Amino acid sequence: MIELDIYSPTEEIFSPLFTKKELRVFVKRDDMIHPFISGNKWRKLKYLLLEAQKQNKKHLVSFGGAYSNHLLATACAGAKFGFKTTGFVRGEAVKNDILSLCQLFGMKLIFTDRESYKNKQLLFDKHFQSDPLAFFIDEGGASQEAIKGCSELLDELNIEYDHIFCAAGTGTTIAGITKGIKERSLKSQIHVIPVLKGADELKTEIEINSGCKDFEFHQNYHFGGYAKTDESLMTFIKNFCKETGILIEPVYTGKMFYALFDLIAHDHFEAGSEILAIHTGGLTGISGMHDRFNF
Ligand SMILES: *Cc1c(COP(=O)(O)O)cnc(C)c1O
Repeated sequence: MIELDIYSPTEEIFSPLFTKKELRVFVKRDDMIHPFISGNKWRKLKYLLLEAQKQNKKHLVSFGGAYSNHLLATACAGAKFGFKTTGFVRGEAVKNDILSLCQLFGMKLIFTDRESYKNKQLLFDKHFQSDPLAFFIDEGGASQEAIKGCSELLDELNIEYDHIFCAAGTGTTIAGITKGIKERSLKSQIHVIPVLKGADELKTEIEINSGCKDFEFHQNYHFGGYAKTDESLMTFIKNFCKETGILIEPVYTGKMFYALFDLIAHDHFEAGSEILAIHTGGLTGISGMHDRFNF
């Protein structure tokens, strides 16, 4: 039986900036759900795993880049709940901490050139058509099941926050949260921080998946694109970690918190507002980033 009690507390963080602007900021600690089935990746996988189990599948097959938090989550969840796992990894064969952990959790890796990688269903069919036990999970877990899983985060909140912040890659997580807000008739204003450049399509996709257009889309915090950083972002992250005791990383949560602080500094919120930032996890790779932090 697939069960994982969620431990994701909410805590308030403090900064002279918040005091000055008369705001309160809280962090939903989804990074604490599990060290490897991290944050939103657990929420996204939950109903997919239940569906795989329902269909008597025994082998999870999924897709990701060489630093994919999703592949790691799938590998660990597979090991925990008794599924075999295979991960198609985009690009030439490489070694890194994330992929080693995937393998340690028993995942078989298939490195795939960028052209073939584009058609995931074809890859799956080619390798696993004859395996009735194989279960397809799209890159990042993107699916209706994932949207449903993410929307459940709202049931864990004790306050109806005025604003909710979340980083977006595929936008599945934020679509789930936006949909959940609508379903529960909450008044919280959603703020999306895309971590990649040129995210117009992403906006449309979130609108379609959530059935809602009423969110703020902050396009200008991608720092040059996916996994790109600059000195101001890295300095911000160092200060944030030092001042809150909460780790964040440069690919997702660093950009989201940077945006939040920047918008606060520019008086984007009314005094008295209560703001929730969702910490989506993704900290596994951070120990390998010492050169980027320039200590
Ligand atoms: C995958 C990931 C995201 C993005 O989630 P999407 O559903 O793809 O938008 C955000 N934060 C972290 C830490 C992630 O690993």
